Amino acid sequence: MAARCAKQLSVCAGSLRFLAPKGARNNRFTSQLLVRCLSTDSDIKYDRLVVEPIKSPKPKPDVNSLVFGAEFADHMLSVEWTAENGWSEPKITPYQNLSLAPSCSTLHYALECFEGMKAFRGDDNKIRLFRPMENMRRLNRSADRACLPGFDGEEFLKCLRHLVHIEKEWVPYSNKCSLYIRPTLIGTQPTLGVNKSSSALLYVILSPVGPYFKTGTFSPVALLADPSFVRAWPGGCGDCKLGGNYGPTILAQRHAEMQGLQQVLWLFGEERQITEVGTMNIFMFWINENGEKELITPPLNGLILPGVTRKSLLELAKSWGEFKVTEREFTMDDLIRASNENRVKEIFGAGTACVVCPVNRILYEGQNILIPTMENLEVTKRFYHELTAIQYGRTPSSWTEIVD
Ligand SMILES: *Cc1c(COP(=O)(O)O)cnc(C)c1O
Repeated sequence: MAARCAKQLSVCAGSLRFLAPKGARNNRFTSQLLVRCLSTDSDIKYDRLVVEPIKSPKPKPDVNSLVFGAEFADHMLSVEWTAENGWSEPKITPYQNLSLAPSCSTLHYALECFEGMKAFRGDDNKIRLFRPMENMRRLNRSADRACLPGFDGEEFLKCLRHLVHIEKEWVPYSNKCSLYIRPTLIGTQPTLGVNKSSSALLYVILSPVGPYFKTGTFSPVALLADPSFVRAWPGGCGDCKLGGNYGPTILAQRHAEMQGLQQVLWLFGEERQITEVGTMNIFMFWINENGEKELITPPLNGLILPGVTRKSLLELAKSWGEFKVTEREFTMDDLIRASNENRVKEIFGAGTACVVCPVNRILYEGQNILIPTMENLEVTKRFYHELTAIQYGRTPSSWTEIVD
C-alpha cells in the first residue's frame, strides 16, 4: 500500500506542488493530499471500461494443431497512461497493430515487462483463472523495477476477466489445452533519453495453446549447464519479468540445441549455484546429506523469478507433509556428489507453460550427469496431477476463480 501511495503521489506531483503553500511540508498535509490523489480518476477503473466489438469473428483454430503464441483471439484489452493524467479508460478493441514512435523507449531500452497466465476450460465447461492476483502483483513489481507506472491490480483483473469472458469461445474445449494470457506493459515515451518513460501502454492479448507434452505423457528434457552464460546476478533484475531478461538467453538456448539438448540450466557464481532451467524454476527431490527425503528449490535471493507455480508446488508439498520441503541454495558440486551417491531422485522445471517438466540429463563441462527422474517420477507426477486437477476444476480450490 505504501508503495502504491508513493506512486500515486508521484503521479500527482505536479498538482501537489500547486496545492502546497510554501513551507507546508509536514506529514499531515501530505497525507491529506494523498487521500485527494487517490480519489481522483488517475488509476485503472473497471467501471470506465469501453468495449468496441469486432465486426466478424475469426474462425477458431483446431485444438489439435495449436502452436504456442501463433494465433490470437479477436479482441485485446489496452489502457494508456501518461505522467500528466494517469491511467485513461480501459478499452477492449479488435486485436490490432500498435502505433508507436520509432524513438519510443520500449524499442530502444527494453522498458517492457509482461506476465504469463492461463484460463482453463474445466470438465464442467466453466472457465477458470489460476491465482490471477499473483500475476497482478508480480506485474506491479516488474513495473516498479522498470520505472513503469503501477496500477490497481484488482481493477485491472476485472477488465482482464471481462476480456476472457468476451473471448470465452477461444478457451479450447479440451482438458489438455488452455488460453494463454499475456499482459504486457511498455514505455511509449517518444524520446531517446535514457529516462523514466512519461507515457506507457498496458495491454493484454490472448492465445489458445495446446498441450506442452505433445505425446500425452511426460517427455523429459536434457540440459546444457554452461557457466559462461549468466541469466541473473545480485542487484540485477532476474527476479522480475522484464522483456530485457529474455532476449539475451536465446543464444545460450541455441548453444544447447546445437549440442542436441533442449534447455539451459542457469548457473551463477564461482560455486556454480543452480538457479533456474530455461524459463522455469527448478526443483530437486533427493535424499539429503542427513539421509532424509527432501524437496528443494533455490530461495528467492534476487536471482530467481518468483514463479506462481513454484509457490503453489511448495504449498502443495508442505500440505502433504510427507517429506521435508526446503528453499535452499545448491550447487553443481552438491548435485554431482548426490548423483554419484544415487541420492538424486527427480529434477524438474516448474512454470505456467508445463506445470512440471522432468529433466533426465545435464551436460556440464563435457560430462553427462544422468538424472533418474523418469524412473522415479513420483513427486513430479503427483504435482502434475494435483495442480492440473485444480486448474481444470476437478479439485475445488480457493486458487481458482471462475470467469462467467
Ligand atoms: C515466468 C518464469 C517462471 C515461472 O513462473 P510461473 O509464474 O510459474 O509461470 C520461472 N522462471 C522464469 C525465468 C520465468 O520467466
